[in-house]
Amino acid sequence: MPKINLHRRDHASALANEMSPETLQQKLAPRFGRPQKRLTPSPYISDKNLERRWSKIDNPEWQALLLDDVTREQAELYNKNIEYFIGTVNVPVGVAGPLRVNGLFAEGDYLVPLATTEAALVASYHRGSQLLTAAGGASAMLLNEGVTRTPGFAFYNLAEAGQFVAWAVTQYAQFKQIAESTTSHGKLKDININIEGNHVYLVFEYLTGDASGQNMVTIATNAVFEFIMHNSPIEPEFAFLDGNLSGDKKATAQTLRSVRGKKVTAEANIPAELIEKYLHTTPEKMMQFAQMTTVGGTLSGTIGINGHYANALAALYIACGQDAACVAESAVGMTRLEINRDGGLYASVTLPNIMVGTVGGGTGLPTQKACLEMMGLHGNGQSQALAEVAAALCLAGELSIVGAFCAGHFSRAHHKLARD
Ligand code: NAP
Repeated sequence: MPKINLHRRDHASALANEMSPETLQQKLAPRFGRPQKRLTPSPYISDKNLERRWSKIDNPEWQALLLDDVTREQAELYNKNIEYFIGTVNVPVGVAGPLRVNGLFAEGDYLVPLATTEAALVASYHRGSQLLTAAGGASAMLLNEGVTRTPGFAFYNLAEAGQFVAWAVTQYAQFKQIAESTTSHGKLKDININIEGNHVYLVFEYLTGDASGQNMVTIATNAVFEFIMHNSPIEPEFAFLDGNLSGDKKATAQTLRSVRGKKVTAEANIPAELIEKYLHTTPEKMMQFAQMTTVGGTLSGTIGINGHYANALAALYIACGQDAACVAESAVGMTRLEINRDGGLYASVTLPNIMVGTVGGGTGLPTQKACLEMMGLHGNGQSQALAEVAAALCLAGELSIVGAFCAGHFSRAHHKLARD
């Protein structure tokens, strides 16, 4: 008879009962001595380094798979993207769409490349895209932009912290000049100050052109940080280039209402007939689902409310050479599903932290560049459109997943596509 556990099993005490203290201690004790397979120190890509690394791994079969002929030929191209390179893994790419986007920057019907090993994912975004396109497309609006780095300074007491802040606020023009001397596209947009006891966090916010900007803002802020350390009238007890107020690669409550990267909202009004045709359900049922899952999400403590932005963003980011770890902050946002005045469905998504670029990072690598080019979104002047496409894609995914739950197809689709 299966038992419903109301409390978590006490894993630690179970461990203790099943293992003697001596065995446990032995298993967890540090082990000293030289590892047998040590990598040579150079992290760079060269034929010699590749040979050396594979001689340590010592498996021709894996080598043939990871370091295939094309990868070997193109190896040097990866030099600015990875260290201790040994090859590439193949991630399958599917295409969803056409996804019609009527944005301030994105305008057109996009075939969206998605890299994933998750069955049913591309099918779901494809279905949502078809529905949106049949309804005239998703309207998308870029609302704000900005990427932060947040150096932190510790002082002896609040009085010293206050004196430091009084000096720092007079230095804005100097900070801006120093920061912008490190980049031709980055612009210092604002500096906010946060005091917490004797700690001061300076929040440097930048516009980063078409780069997603994490390196750009780090380099620019580091130049200002060094200036501060040499010129501050009050010497900090200690200080760090980032005091973790930037929300870099973390889901944070602060960025739900501000911005990290690009903030975009996207919406559609969809007639009930199209909901029936594409999703086999009704706007009423979808609104009920939204009500229940908003409460469920609140109970679980989620930041924002959404079904699965992370699925769209992880697959899009991997295909298009974005930093996949930024899904942590990018997948925060709000989905709304309501009945509109025509009895159709009003659906919207708002994502305040879309971290995308169309230059820099991994966007110039051969297959990643091809995926961006497939949407006409590689290079200068395209990052805002890419952010609007990303938001519209998330909207497509929200409609499709909610439709699947409402029509009772969610489990069936996964079973059919992943198991049969
Ligand atoms: P990047 O490749 O380091 O910098 C972008 C480069 O593109 C700059 O050299 C910039 O020149 C140039 N550029 C040319 N045309 C541009 C345009 N139209 N707009 C903007 N820049 C243009 O890329 P990034 O976006 O700053 O950094 C992204 C990478 O940083 C990601 O791969 C991410 O994984 C990684 N990352 C770094 C950190 C960190 O703290 N360092 C943290 C997280 C992630 P100018 O600078 O002269 O304008």
